[in-house]
Amino acid sequence: MFRIGITGGIGSGKSTVCRLFAEHGIPRYDCDREAKRLMVEDEALREAIRSRFGEACYNDAGALNRPYLARQVFGSPAKLAALDALVHPAVIADFERWAEAQRAPYVLVESAILFEAGLDRRVDRTVAVLAPAALRLERAVRRDGADPEAIRRRMAAQADDDTLRDRADFSIVNIREEELAPAVAELDRRFRQFALRHAD
Ligand code: ATP
Repeated sequence: MFRIGITGGIGSGKSTVCRLFAEHGIPRYDCDREAKRLMVEDEALREAIRSRFGEACYNDAGALNRPYLARQVFGSPAKLAALDALVHPAVIADFERWAEAQRAPYVLVESAILFEAGLDRRVDRTVAVLAPAALRLERAVRRDGADPEAIRRRMAAQADDDTLRDRADFSIVNIREEELAPAVAELDRRFRQFALRHAD
């Protein structure tokens, strides 16, 4: 299955872009959502998290105690890296299974940390969704009702648009909504051609 990785900073419009691809019949794997699901449903991952970060990571009903886990890794890059080293391979393995089960011209995988998690090596082409930082901040605040300072901190921890533009094979600048659908339609046309060549 031909695979496209979609990345971009918070509020850049990754999910919006993926919804437009869905109108062309292209399925998408949302790493954020699936990681949260796997941390609850994947028995091996649960066990690894429990043994590294403590029994209290899960409550008696089996639900993830997210605030507890967040406190364990807060302020410790080494512990956060240890958690990522457990979660990322589980997500990648799940994505691989999912991708092979799809029946579509090609598939998308959406992740804000596509390059950082090494997912770029599991896809055939990468797309960066870009937008000015001020606009991304405004969108994220409006969507989540979040504290602008908290969003700014998350943005500062993510790769900037220049870095993403350099690393990705394609980029979509998402400023004006009406320009987004034609940009996605053009990429869809190209990806279908790549996928056909790839299948030969
Ligand atoms: P995150 O990484 O935070 O999940 P994302 O990159 O997936 O963000 P979206 O959720 O697609 O971003 O977009 C963020 C918000 O901005 C959403 O509420 C979306 O509807 C809005 N938005 C996205 N693109 C545009 C646009 N071109 N014009 C206006 N609003 C937009």
